[in-house]
Amino acid sequence: MSEQVLFDYTRQDAEGASCTAHAWAKVPAPLNPAQRRDLKARAAALLKARNAVLVAHYYVDGDLQDLALETGGIVSDSLEMARFGRDHAAQTLVVAGVRFMGESAKILSPEKRVLMPDLDATCSLDLGCPADEFARFCDAHPDRQVVVYANTSAAVKARADWMVTSSCALEIVAHLKAQGQKILWAPDRHLGRYIQEQTGADMLMWNGACIVHDEFKGLELDLLREQHPGAMVLVHPESPKSVVDKADVVGSTSALIKAVVEGAAQEYIVATDNGILHRMRQLAPGKTLIEAPTAGNSATCKSCAHCPWMAMNGLQGVIDCLEKGSGEIRVEEPIRAQALACIERMLDFTAALKAGKKPGQAGFVPGIGAA
Ligand code: SF4
Repeated sequence: MSEQVLFDYTRQDAEGASCTAHAWAKVPAPLNPAQRRDLKARAAALLKARNAVLVAHYYVDGDLQDLALETGGIVSDSLEMARFGRDHAAQTLVVAGVRFMGESAKILSPEKRVLMPDLDATCSLDLGCPADEFARFCDAHPDRQVVVYANTSAAVKARADWMVTSSCALEIVAHLKAQGQKILWAPDRHLGRYIQEQTGADMLMWNGACIVHDEFKGLELDLLREQHPGAMVLVHPESPKSVVDKADVVGSTSALIKAVVEGAAQEYIVATDNGILHRMRQLAPGKTLIEAPTAGNSATCKSCAHCPWMAMNGLQGVIDCLEKGSGEIRVEEPIRAQALACIERMLDFTAALKAGKKPGQAGFVPGIGAA
């Protein structure tokens, strides 16, 4: 069984402008090579001087990804970002990504200072799932395990039993189904549908979407594939069913990068934010990468395959937050403590999987009894 509730993402700012227009207006201007070198060197020196580490997502600007790797930080998906920030010795984490990623870092490491280049960098999934409305939804379905995607606010996570990312959602939902649990899922409707199809779980779903992945087009993907018959199609599961159904590989950002590195094909059509191509090119330099189409008759191009909120992160923002202490993430108690439980449950689950334990095995997920 799968059921969707209706929730329309129409949030606008006080002037009536769309959130995406506001975000695009704040994206840093392109830099020339000398400016990039200068800002990178200043940011690297500040990270060192302030005992800080840069934790960057695959979708942010390539210069930020390079800076993170060159200074002992990480470029990764949201699951690895959370783990890395928690386990690193640095007392200041600079999170280059979107707000929920900074919040997750703070929830896991309350003693550390968590800074972001621009606190306005958010996510349509987070915006489209307000905590008060979500709490009412949960209250109306007390018989369901509440499973939320990482792309939600701390207050939404505080209401959840489990947090998942796209790299572990399938396993966690399959585990809950095997235990006979019914699930309340939020907020991404496409990822929820994909997981429901794969697991057969009973899922009641919130109706959110990512403005980047929602724009990929199945029909245009068919046409592109005709021009590249040997290409492998790699799709992130936040994409619509018409796109996911055409994929050779469906997976998280890390899984898609692995597919390019290890795949036998020469060409890859990639249906996720085009910021990921930077890392794919570095790790698989001989391969040809082609962006999946967002154009076509029904195109809206709020993103054109690049997240405006991810694009707000820039080198100058890293410098500003380290120099001025701006962009600090704060998560009030008891929200933080409540949200921590569902994140730790996921981290315990994935650590147990990594250690070779099987769902259902005694002691599989420490600290949560039969689960
Ligand atoms: S790419 Fe989509 S899911 Fe990721 S932060 Fe942007 S809007 Fe949110």
